[in-house]
Amino acid sequence: MLLGVLYRLPLAVARAVLVALRGRLCALCWSLAPLSRPLSLPLPGWRRVSTLSPVSPVGPRWERDDDDEASLTPTSVNYHFTRQCNYKCGFCFHTAKTSFVLPLEEAKMGLAMLKEAGMEKINFSGGEPFLQDRGEFVGKLVQFCKQDLKLPSVSIVSNGSLIRERWFKKYGEYLDILAISCDSFDENVNVLIGRGQGKKNHVENLHKLRQWCREYAVAFKINSVINRFNVEEDMNEQIKALNPVRWKVFQCLLIEGENSGEDALREAERFVISDEEFEQFLDRHKDVSCLVPESNQKMRDSYLILDEYMRFLNCRNGRKEPSKSILDVGVEAAIKFSGFDEMMFLKRGGKLFCNDYSKV
Ligand code: SF4
Repeated sequence: MLLGVLYRLPLAVARAVLVALRGRLCALCWSLAPLSRPLSLPLPGWRRVSTLSPVSPVGPRWERDDDDEASLTPTSVNYHFTRQCNYKCGFCFHTAKTSFVLPLEEAKMGLAMLKEAGMEKINFSGGEPFLQDRGEFVGKLVQFCKQDLKLPSVSIVSNGSLIRERWFKKYGEYLDILAISCDSFDENVNVLIGRGQGKKNHVENLHKLRQWCREYAVAFKINSVINRFNVEEDMNEQIKALNPVRWKVFQCLLIEGENSGEDALREAERFVISDEEFEQFLDRHKDVSCLVPESNQKMRDSYLILDEYMRFLNCRNGRKEPSKSILDVGVEAAIKFSGFDEMMFLKRGGKLFCNDYSKV
């Protein structure tokens, strides 16, 4: 009946109705998913030419994408679904510029579109992913990606401060990898950086999370951003004691409009270190076998980043330029704006799945 009414409405009115009902239509789409492929999902090599939303019941039109030679597969996606965070790290390069978070059903629909387009790895990031709905939002997305989409690798990057054991009890079985940010084992340095937790100790919390990861069979990773305040630190003993499956070491990165420049919420210039200083830090930790370094160049080109509106962000020009949302134009069209370098992704070992370092 809804279709019949919509056919008789002028285009602008029909579109307004559809936008208002988008959440419900997404849910309906999901309930029918086992019966047939949703009409709104683009086929690889095709693009949508209708001007209506992709959830349009009047049916989007598709045509062959002739410049498809350059099309990319979104094998591994970092979905920054929120920009809100309870920390204030001075170098943060995904700052709280909006408080927008997609409704859960729309986020699920976008993830299903990415799976259709070839996604195998999803990483949920922020902001702080456990801030939204006390971790329930990210928990439900993790469950959906593992149980419904059957993705080989589902991971979260978090500052770890809001994760409770009851979350592991409920959602731990659907999560492959948990990466916790830790830049220093000296609490005073953490406070200087902006990762202070008041009375709570970031390092003590890290050990607690490490233990829960063991108990609930989630692979444990550590991410560290090397900057002016921790570049001299020797972390060998602490990292070896925590024994993560991977220790990702990032060089502090400037992104215009995020942590650098006039309209930015952070001024990260005072955190920046030279390439030589970064190399010296790596050299000091060369005996840590799980260390994986990420220089500025690698970071700019090799991450497929999806923001809170499900727009790909192109970081190539030193600032984040958004594509259109995959919910509006489909994955194929959006990804062409992403600036993603598939070769760089492969070079940094981006094809590794959690099975490679065994989940247990
Ligand atoms: S914990 Fe992460 S998201 Fe939060 S302020 Fe620090 S760098 Fe930014």
